[in-house]
Amino acid sequence: MNPILSVQDLRVVFAGFQALKGIDLEVGKREIVTIIGPNGAGKSTLLDAIVGKSPVASGHIYYRGKEITNKSRYEVARMGIGRKFQNPNVYNELTVFENILLALKGAHGVVAAIRAKLTRVKKARIEAILERIGLLEKAYTKVSSLSHGQKQWVEIGMVLAQDPTVVLLDEPTAGMTSDETHLTGEIIKSIAEDRSVIVIEHDMEFVKQIAQRLVVLHQGEKLIEGSVQEVQNNAKVIEVYLGR
Ligand code: ADP
Ligand code: MG
Repeated sequence: MNPILSVQDLRVVFAGFQALKGIDLEVGKREIVTIIGPNGAGKSTLLDAIVGKSPVASGHIYYRGKEITNKSRYEVARMGIGRKFQNPNVYNELTVFENILLALKGAHGVVAAIRAKLTRVKKARIEAILERIGLLEKAYTKVSSLSHGQKQWVEIGMVLAQDPTVVLLDEPTAGMTSDETHLTGEIIKSIAEDRSVIVIEHDMEFVKQIAQRLVVLHQGEKLIEGSVQEVQNNAKVIEVYLGR
C-alpha cells in the first residue's frame, strides 16, 4: 500500500501520563479505517495528534510522504486533513446552505463570505455537498430547526467544504437515531469514493456497515487490526470488552 497517511511509533504524553504508547497506523487512498476501543483508550488523542492538537512526544506522522508531526492545526487543515469534532459547531441562525458557504475553502471569514458574490461555480459546489450529506431539500432551512443528526451532517458538509483529502470523524453518530446512524454510514461510504476517512465509533452495527479495516485501541496501545470478523473473534478484544 502507498499510504496517504502514515503514523509511526506515535507517543503522546500528558503530564507524565502516556495516552498513546507507540501507535502505528496506515491509511490508504479512498480507504475507510474505523477505530474502536473502550473509553479512555486514546482514540480522540490519536486524531488530535494527527491534526496538531495533542503534543507528540515521539514518533512520526506523514501525510502524502511529508512529515506533519507537530505542525499547527491551521497548517494540517490547509494541507488537506479535515476534522469533525464530537459536538456540532454550526451557525443555528443561518440556513444549511449558508453554513456550507461560510465553510468553503477560501471563504476568509463570515463577513467576507457573505459579501463575496455567489458564483455559479460556488453554488454548484455547495449543492454537490448538500446532496452528498442528504440535505439538498433543506438547503434554505435554518439549522436551528434541524434534528441533532441533521446538524451533524451539516458539520460533515462544512468539513467537506474545505475539500480535504483525509476526513477524520470522531463519533459522528453520537446521539443519533438508528435511521440517522444508518444514513450517516451511507454518507461516509459516499465520501470515501474520493477521499480517505478515519472514523471513531462505538456502535457495532454501524461499524459493520462501513468498516473496511478496523483498528482496536486499548490503554494507549493498538490491540489488533483487521477485518470486522477478525476483530470480533479475537480473544484479546473479547477480554477487553467483556472480561471486566
Ligand atoms: P478516547 O477518545 O479513546 O475515549 P481519549 O483519547 O480522549 O480517549 O483519552 C485518552 C486518555 O488520555 C484518557 O485517560 C484521558 O483522560 C487522557 N487525556 C486526553 N486528553 C488529555 C489532556 N488534554 N490532558 C490530560 N489527559 C488527557
Ligand atoms: Mg474520544
